[in-house]
Amino acid sequence: MSTIPTHTFPLFVVPFLIGLLFISVWLLFLFLKWIGELDRNGLVKFGQNILTKKTLRAIGEVFMESLLHRKLFRKNPLLGYMHMCFAFGWFMIILIGKLEVIAYSGKITARPYVAIFFKHFVSPEEKFVRSGMYSFLMDFFLLMILSGLFLAALKRFRSKTLGMTHTTRHNRIDRWTLAFLWLIFPARFLAESIASGSEGYSFLTGQTGRLLASFLPVQQMEIPFWWIYSIALFGFFILLPFSRYMHIPTEVAYIFLKNWGLDKRRVNRGFTNFEIYSCSRCGVCIDVCQLKTQAGIGTVQAVNFTRDIRSGSLCEEDLKNCLMCGRCNEACPVGIDITLQKQMYRGQFARFDKNEFTYLNTPTPAEQSTVVYFPGCMSSLSPGIEQSMVKIMEQAGEDFKVLGDEQRACCGRPMLLSGNTEAAQKLIAFNRDFILSSNAKMLVTSCPICYKMFRENYQLPIPVLHHSEYLLQLAETGKIEMEKQQLRMVYHDPCDLGRGSKIYDQPRQLLQQAGTLVPSNFERENALCCGGSLGNTKINQASKDKITKHLVEELSAPNPELLATACPVCKRTIARHSSIKVMDIAEVVAENIRKKTIQPNVKEEFESLLK
Ligand code: SF4
Ligand code: SF4
Repeated sequence: MSTIPTHTFPLFVVPFLIGLLFISVWLLFLFLKWIGELDRNGLVKFGQNILTKKTLRAIGEVFMESLLHRKLFRKNPLLGYMHMCFAFGWFMIILIGKLEVIAYSGKITARPYVAIFFKHFVSPEEKFVRSGMYSFLMDFFLLMILSGLFLAALKRFRSKTLGMTHTTRHNRIDRWTLAFLWLIFPARFLAESIASGSEGYSFLTGQTGRLLASFLPVQQMEIPFWWIYSIALFGFFILLPFSRYMHIPTEVAYIFLKNWGLDKRRVNRGFTNFEIYSCSRCGVCIDVCQLKTQAGIGTVQAVNFTRDIRSGSLCEEDLKNCLMCGRCNEACPVGIDITLQKQMYRGQFARFDKNEFTYLNTPTPAEQSTVVYFPGCMSSLSPGIEQSMVKIMEQAGEDFKVLGDEQRACCGRPMLLSGNTEAAQKLIAFNRDFILSSNAKMLVTSCPICYKMFRENYQLPIPVLHHSEYLLQLAETGKIEMEKQQLRMVYHDPCDLGRGSKIYDQPRQLLQQAGTLVPSNFERENALCCGGSLGNTKINQASKDKITKHLVEELSAPNPELLATACPVCKRTIARHSSIKVMDIAEVVAENIRKKTIQPNVKEEFESLLK
């Protein structure tokens, strides 16, 4: 074992040490403050789960997402590689650097700057256990970071090369922080190469050092380059908390909190802060937002929203100009639930009149039935859906009750989306009482908006089914049968049914029994919004039309004879711009149902007679 000289304390390590101390203290205080703002439930979960398997799961997720950037890799391999180079490469350099110092000195308590400036303290001529391997690995990961740096520069100046049409603008602090970040690794590369000088042997810094030593006075250059490296680290650490790069430490903490089950959110408090500050401003959410790509509205995307909260400049107009389609949630590599965050922040601007909905008195008990069918307010605008459902349920011999206009109120989701939680609660209470009074075994709805609302906010003791699930059940149990037609169909996934409730397969399985389903370019998680969203209270009709027309173009591209969907809002919105016929799946099923389906009970009786 060799000893790192204890008497040497080169002055150039001072900026690095100050920066390290500053960022450590800052993060400790800030994170403790946010944790202190968690509600009681959050604090209990925090305490209960910290020493459980959930922590191991969180470590795995940090490794896969914060270091390897797996999700980003899947969406955009080049961008994923770029982020991985910085995160994983830097992590490995810190880790291997620490191991290298231990291997050299035999101690784990070396001063924190030794691993960072190792080549200043230990000349390449000094050999120790596996010194060649350490040199190789350090060079390998440094090269990896430098390749990421090259891509980052490409992204900054020619973003389309990395498959990004729109990127984010850096403010002045971001620009300085980025400059320091970009300086760290070239400075380290040159400082290590120069320190190796003519004795270097590792493949990157060693060979570069030999080359430089052949025509430059490297001995005089070493200390200035270590200074540059140390100052770059200092600048990055000092500016990090005030820049977009704050996401680096915050995302790690956010992943742990998520895995420990924390999810209660309050505006500007606790968990919400961890989520908002985890946004890396990568800009992935810009290109997926149809308000940007179709309507040219560029101030409302998720990346703007998180920035505006951080800077305290969130405005009502932008907050309410959002389709709440969830395309950005799906795309976000960090997994930020933007629509839920927006819904919560909208509450700050909500105005609730206590006299609203006073006409909702205690409902008279509903007639008893096995299935309660809740068409949804929007189905009133497209009565064919309700009529089709009634026809199918009658043919299937179901014991059902349709909740008519006078027996139901709006499910409350538009109120919730606008942040008007109090009004939503009134509607929920009214509908819930009425549904429960029917003693039904199942609630079926045709509206994905109501469906999501019933499942997430009503706490009903009975199963809630979207009509696509229910109709598939009827088909699978033989209660209905369909005639397969020579009909080419494209299916459009409604936002709240697909991304919002993960119902992708059931509508497709049903449609395949009625005709041939052909794929479109935007399907399942990647489906486009129709533009008719009830969640956007600020968009104008012209912008809506642009969004719908683009969707119709995409759906029509495979030349279908029918556009099918599973939402009354989507159906109505698409039909306004489509020359191809548009139908809800309930209408498709009703039109193709075999007229003389033998009821299962009739079939059983018939079979028993034959015995
Ligand atoms: S919200 Fe997500 S996708 Fe958008 S910039 Fe932030 S991290 Fe990237
Ligand atoms: S929810 Fe949809 S409309 Fe709103 S910002 Fe995200 S992608 Fe854009």
